[in-house]
Amino acid sequence: MPETDNLPPLRDVIAAHDLMAKKSLGQNFLLDLNLTRRIARAADAEGAIVYEVGPGPGGLTRALLAEGAAKVIAVERDQRCVAPLYQIAMAYPDRLFVEMGDAMTVDEAALLQHYGIAEPVRVAANLPYNVGTALLIKWLTAATWPPFFSSLTVMFQREVAERIVAAPGTEHYGRLSVLAGWRCTAKILFDVSRTAFVPPPKIVSTIVRLEPLPEPVAPAELADLQAVTAAAFGQRRKMLRQSLKTLVPDAEALLAEAGIAPTERPERLSVTDFASLARAFRKRC
Ligand code: SAM
Repeated sequence: MPETDNLPPLRDVIAAHDLMAKKSLGQNFLLDLNLTRRIARAADAEGAIVYEVGPGPGGLTRALLAEGAAKVIAVERDQRCVAPLYQIAMAYPDRLFVEMGDAMTVDEAALLQHYGIAEPVRVAANLPYNVGTALLIKWLTAATWPPFFSSLTVMFQREVAERIVAAPGTEHYGRLSVLAGWRCTAKILFDVSRTAFVPPPKIVSTIVRLEPLPEPVAPAELADLQAVTAAAFGQRRKMLRQSLKTLVPDAEALLAEAGIAPTERPERLSVTDFASLARAFRKRC
């Protein structure tokens, strides 16, 4: 059964610690505990070890713990959040551990190891949008795979969520879709209205869930996959025989090697096609 904590309402916590949202840290807080508990359930928090990025005053953190997370390891940049997060840690003894720092530079495997955690963890985060995309790319381009996480349940702006899950032949399909689809399954879970946040952001947010595949869908070197997708989507309206010239002088031969028609455009290629292109590129380098 989910627990209820005896902590004060988040509005009071924010007032007591003078936690005016800082734009520079992309702070839009979620105060509705029903909503944060829905996110915590979507993250399969019950019984899990969760890595949370950007706990802020702790709305999602409290929900993760109340939904039964065995442990939450959190990384937060804003020193003002130390005291409210400490209060939560006191209410849930030995279950919440907070590191102050920048999630972009954290070595997650080392951090988890520090807490004696060897198995992959569930990631849950409501992040500023620019950091969210950069972190997702950091996680998807990890040198070791399978990665440190067994799932990512993360909030993105709607447009980025659509790019992550986009299928070939659709408007939003691009580099992020190929990278995500190469190493993970990805799906949109639900939208979160602007009005759920304090202060409300300008755009609709969406919770996305990604799960790592044990192996990428087709073999390729990550750097090669990134090089071919950058060249192809860098000029997405052009035929590949044209756009790939930025990569190799003989783009038609590269495409022939990968078994792809020279007149194709990038949005029509599957993730497997891009992996073939990456392998052909490697042979030519
Ligand atoms: N989780 C809280 C919630 O749902 O109400 C806060 C969400 S707020 C959108 C984003 C949080 O991420 C803020 O607390 C902010 O200070 C923190 N943050 C921003 N950049 C960060 C970074 N690079 N590393 C860790 N935390 C960061």
